[in-house]
Parts: sequence; structure tokens; C-alpha cells
Amino acid sequence: MSNRFLLRDALAEFPPYVPGKPPVSSPGLTPYKLSSNENHLPPLPGVLDALTAAAAVPANYPDPTAAALVADIADRLDVDPAEVVPGAGASEILSALTNITLESGTSVVYPWPSFEMYPILASARGAEKRPVALLPDGRHDFAGLAAAIDDTTRLVLLCSPNNPTGPTIADAELEGFLAEVPDNVIVVLDEAYLEFASEAADGLAARKKHANLVLARTFSKAYGLAGLRVGYGVADVEIATALRQVIAPFSVTAPAQAAARESLARIDEVAVRAKEVAAVRDRFAHDLRELGFDVPDAQGNYVWIALDPEAAVAFEGACAEQAVAVRRLQGGVRVSIGPDEALDRVLKVAAAARP
Ligand code: PMP
Repeated sequence: MSNRFLLRDALAEFPPYVPGKPPVSSPGLTPYKLSSNENHLPPLPGVLDALTAAAAVPANYPDPTAAALVADIADRLDVDPAEVVPGAGASEILSALTNITLESGTSVVYPWPSFEMYPILASARGAEKRPVALLPDGRHDFAGLAAAIDDTTRLVLLCSPNNPTGPTIADAELEGFLAEVPDNVIVVLDEAYLEFASEAADGLAARKKHANLVLARTFSKAYGLAGLRVGYGVADVEIATALRQVIAPFSVTAPAQAAARESLARIDEVAVRAKEVAAVRDRFAHDLRELGFDVPDAQGNYVWIALDPEAAVAFEGACAEQAVAVRRLQGGVRVSIGPDEALDRVLKVAAAARP
């Protein structure tokens, strides 16, 4: 590490966040980016107008509490507005959750592979990382997660549907797990892709019984607003108050607040679109399984193809030659659901690479 500045030594140990690569262009082929789980559909009607109107006075700060958006979310979910914490994406909520719980001498338990931010945030807070391997079918190992908790554990992260493998957590699994976790340890259910799932644990219902359960949600995926950075947490008032203490004021911009409100007002259309994406995902996953690939239950807007490291490199490379960027991670390749043309190219690559 450089001696020029008084930076933390721990920075050298931070796992890198590797963003999804952009597609490489290839003559005659429209490039497609299926590497960041973005929503490929056009903006919802009304969203661009809401953005323009909200951006009319860029000199002014946004409402720091995002009161109107919070009220809309609370209304929709039937929770107290004091339990809703808005942030610049679910990422900011996850970061704030680690900020209010973790420090040196504490530990955080999470499934692995899962969302890449989890270990990065744990490192940032100087906490001990306790990744618990997923089961072979890509689901959470709840017995393993429970066994990893001890009296240093301040935070448990769960992901449903799990990014990158795809399966959701079931109600019974969540309830059984929460019954085992000490009720002063915060458990986060990261529901970034919930809207695409046909079956998933009901986090809102589970919160009624377990005040230590916090939900992390986002407008980035099903709502298609990833570029605007807006998400929220749903948490017990005491936890929510602590979260507001560490989140930067004004982190959700006025256009982001307006677009999120407009999208919430069109939640039926959001649901229809999420179902469309899910139907394409199911066909795509089915076709890959027919070709002989190991594809776990896919419940997000992406499909996981389990591959050994060499095969994963080859698969990613063959997709890149077709001007399609996919995401290679430990244990396989994740393909976001995109336009048919892009998925057809991936299927062609898959047919040529059948195991
Ligand atoms: N959780 C999971 C599981 C994710 O995959 C992502 C984004 N890829 C996020 C949270 C964060 O999303 P955002 O900050 O865009 O809301």
C-alpha cells in the first residue's frame, strides 16, 4: 500500500466490485448487455414526463425525507411511514445497514455466492465475513447460516431471489430460520428481484412476527429505474431511525423520487411487465436445461448456468463474439433476460457448447 496518504490498510483486502461488462461490438450485430440484470423494456408511460417536470429546477435540493414517496410506499405496503427508509438504490440501504451494525470485532453472515456487495460492505466496516456456501441447487443453506451465527454476529443477509443463482427463499424456510436467530440480531431480506418471482417468502408478513427482519427493496429492476438510483428499506422504527442517521441527506434526487412515485401509481403495469420478463425467463431456462445445462430454479430477471471455470470462460467469450455481454462469476455464468434476439444468440452459443 502507498505510504503517501494515511489510508486504511484494510483497503488492500477489499474484494473488488466487478460491474457487468458492456458488450463488444461485432460487425452486423446489434450489441446487447445481459450482464447487469437491467430491465430491457422501455420506460413506463408517464415516467419520462415525471422526470422532466421534477428536473425543472436543478438548483434546488430535493425533499431530504422524500416524504411523498415514503407516504406512497407506506400506503402501498400498509406499513407506518416511519418504517420506510428511502435511499439511493437498495445498495445504499444495504450499506447503511452494515454501517449501523458492523465494526471491528463483529461478524456478518451471508450466503455465497450472492450479491457481490455483501463482502465488500463487510470489509468496509472491518467486520469478520462469514460466507455460507449455497446448497448444490443454488438455495440458501439455512442450517449452515444458523450455525455460523455466534455472539459476535450483528447482521445476517439473505437474498430472495438469490443473485446470481436464482432460487427464492420459501416462507417455511424464512420462518424456521428467524425462529433460531436471536431477536436482537438484524436479519436483512434482500428482495431486489421479488417482483419477478412466482413464489417467495412474504417478508412483509414475517416482519409482523419478527421485528429484527428488515426488507431491502429497489426501483432498479422490475420498475426499470436503475439509472436513477432509488430504493428503500422497511424496518422497525428504531432500526429505521438509525438508518436515517447514517444515510447522506438528499441522496434520492428529485427526479428519482418523482419517477418512483409515478411508477408506483402504475404498479399494475409493473406487475404485467415483470410477468412478461418471467415468462421469457422460464422459456429460456427450460431451453438451456433441454440442452443439458445445470440451471437452478430461476426466479429473478436472470438465469444462472452452472459451469466449471474453463467452460464459463469459453461460454462468456463465445457470447462476446455474438456481441452479447453476460456475467461470469464464481461457478458459472449469469444471463440477464433481454430481447429475444439477444437470448437466441445465447441459446445458439449454448447449443454449440452443450455439456
Ligand atoms: N440486491 C441485489 C441482490 C442486487 O442484485 C442489486 C443490484 N444488482 C442490489 C441489491 C442493488 O440494487 P440497487 O442499488 O440498484 O437498488
